[in-house]
Amino acid sequence: MRLNDILDRVGNYTTDADIDVIMRAYVFSAKAHAGQLRKSGEPYLTHPLAVAGILTEWKMDVDTIATGLLHDTMEDCLVTQTDIDGMFGVEVAELVEGVTKIGKLEFRSKEEAQAENFRKMVLAMAKDVRVILVKLADRLHNMRTMQHMRADRRKAISQETLDIFAPIANRLGLSKVKQELEDLCFQYLHEDVHGEMTRKLTAGADDREQYIIDTGKLLEDGLGANGVQCTVTGRSKHLFSVYRKMLAQNLEFEQVHDLLAFRIFVDDIGDCYTALGLIHAKYRHFPTKLKDYISHPKSNGYQSLHTVVIGPENQQIEIQIRTQAMHAIAENGIAAHWRYKEGHLALSREDVQKVTKLRELFEAAREVEDPQEFLETVKVDLFATEAFAFTPRGDVKFFPLGATALDFAYAIHTEVGNRCTGVKVNGRMVPLKYELKSGDTVEVLTRDDQRPSRDWLNIARTGRALSKIRREIREDERMKGRQIGHNLLESEVQKHGGNFKKLLKNGEILAQAKEAGFRKEEDLYLAFAQGRITVNRVLHNLLPPEAFEKSDDGEATGGFTQLFQRIRRKTESPVLINGVEDVMVTYAQCCRPVPGESVTGYVTRGRGITVHLSTCSQILAMDAERRVTVQWHSDTRGRHSGEVRIVCSDQMGMLAEIGAVCKTTGINVTQMEAHQIEDNKAEITLEVSIDDVRQLNKFMSQVERVSGVISVDRVRTQSQM
Ligand code: MN
Repeated sequence: MRLNDILDRVGNYTTDADIDVIMRAYVFSAKAHAGQLRKSGEPYLTHPLAVAGILTEWKMDVDTIATGLLHDTMEDCLVTQTDIDGMFGVEVAELVEGVTKIGKLEFRSKEEAQAENFRKMVLAMAKDVRVILVKLADRLHNMRTMQHMRADRRKAISQETLDIFAPIANRLGLSKVKQELEDLCFQYLHEDVHGEMTRKLTAGADDREQYIIDTGKLLEDGLGANGVQCTVTGRSKHLFSVYRKMLAQNLEFEQVHDLLAFRIFVDDIGDCYTALGLIHAKYRHFPTKLKDYISHPKSNGYQSLHTVVIGPENQQIEIQIRTQAMHAIAENGIAAHWRYKEGHLALSREDVQKVTKLRELFEAAREVEDPQEFLETVKVDLFATEAFAFTPRGDVKFFPLGATALDFAYAIHTEVGNRCTGVKVNGRMVPLKYELKSGDTVEVLTRDDQRPSRDWLNIARTGRALSKIRREIREDERMKGRQIGHNLLESEVQKHGGNFKKLLKNGEILAQAKEAGFRKEEDLYLAFAQGRITVNRVLHNLLPPEAFEKSDDGEATGGFTQLFQRIRRKTESPVLINGVEDVMVTYAQCCRPVPGESVTGYVTRGRGITVHLSTCSQILAMDAERRVTVQWHSDTRGRHSGEVRIVCSDQMGMLAEIGAVCKTTGINVTQMEAHQIEDNKAEITLEVSIDDVRQLNKFMSQVERVSGVISVDRVRTQSQM
């Protein structure tokens, strides 16, 4: 690649480009790299020239091509960003800086470092996608010229390329680059297999070459005779895709039949379908392998018709049918979307929309700050292949394989996801964790007061849904936490005879918040609920010492004081709980309280409040400072589960009678176990779903009255005091 070749090519696809920038970048780079050699012994300058050359194949703008020429000057030659800024302007300087930064990222290190670096790269990409295009061109040329490197270095770089850069090229729709990278990686990582496959392919190469020529002509003539003007190209499939198929289906090389692929280029979309019809009329095809990416483009914008047929001489061949415009996008992906606007290269909003997955990747990189979480979030999007599903109105949505009905809800709109209560697939209700299959029609049911819950994080698979759910949960936690913390403080102040409203009005609570390093009262409340600060610590600053003396020796005081305290306690404003588990409230598994029972809360560190029975031995053993008053909301919601153990004489009809009691008391049995414990006794354990403790008690006392029943107890793992 020479400078003139680059200038010629740029001149071919743009007229008003500032070619001068490229020439100056060339001179600058030549000076900076003067005297440096590559491992092969060639002058170093050949590398930036080749990289710039690759960028012209993608029809990049002059700034990007200049960046290709300059991309290694900062790393290797003590050139600074300011130097480049001064010579080429801030845009080129930022691009070169971006490429240099990515070059320093290590993707083969420990997993956390890898995650952090990957996020950094995506952020750089989000800032200006041209950065990653230069990096891909750089990596492509390095991979093409690795012969002179040590074998272990070659392997390490190949693995990194296969893990990180090939998937990114694919996501950007640069399928030609992706394939070449994969084949090169394959060659270096599995030299033996690659060598053998190449040998076998070469053995039949002449025959295949002839077959490609003959069949290409046959197709072209056949379609032309039926009024479809076209050109046909044929090729052997790229090695890595054959190898991947061998691995996936456990095949020997000889068992892979569709080694050859043909492409038919026609003038318009109508001709695509006509050509497909004509080919299917002439050759037997495999219906399951027919793919219509024209009416359902891939999310990276790819469009084409794919079919596999039994062609001439009974050879299995793959045929792709597309227009030239589709081809440009298929080969160069995002680069094909670039448009020159007023001398600048730009992506229109519409084009960016086409590359939705990319946009989501960028969003995730910005929103998710924990690198490990980010990697988890984008892994599925970046590396999984796709399924598509329809909205009831017929809009199509794309998903990585393994995506669930919940992901679909979030794909429609964040609010639809957040309020999703259920999903119908092809008219039938399915669980949220239902895995989408291509062609499903999905209807999302919503309710305004629905909110995401923590277990949704185990259901959603796509980065978009996961990051939205996480954000929403965090927001809910904050809101609920502020309210809980507010109630905590208010009730403690009142318990000690203080006037909460007054303290709030005087700004004394605000002063305490500031003292603790917060800006607002709300932040202090949140810290209480999250267990980061105990209410007591603040309470002692808010109230005079006498306030604490009184309640400390409360037992010794007379009846009048006790009465007084009882009245005061009534005026406390406890944390109200409604019986539903949410982001800030969970119900203890040890004592399993149900609405109506006397309960106490415990502020955990970071996970909100756990509600125990007031008599639960576990909570009585816990730090008193973290115990808080809670009370059931006047209308608790939903059904609650309780467990009851019945000991009875082992006689016929026992279960039927207990069943009858369930029915009259309106209790549902969700699980039942029965076994003999002594000669004539049986033990029955019931898990029941109930509204509140009244209903449960009624049920238990009625069961007790059934003749033959010896005892009825609640099952709780902790003893009650
Ligand atoms: Mn380089």
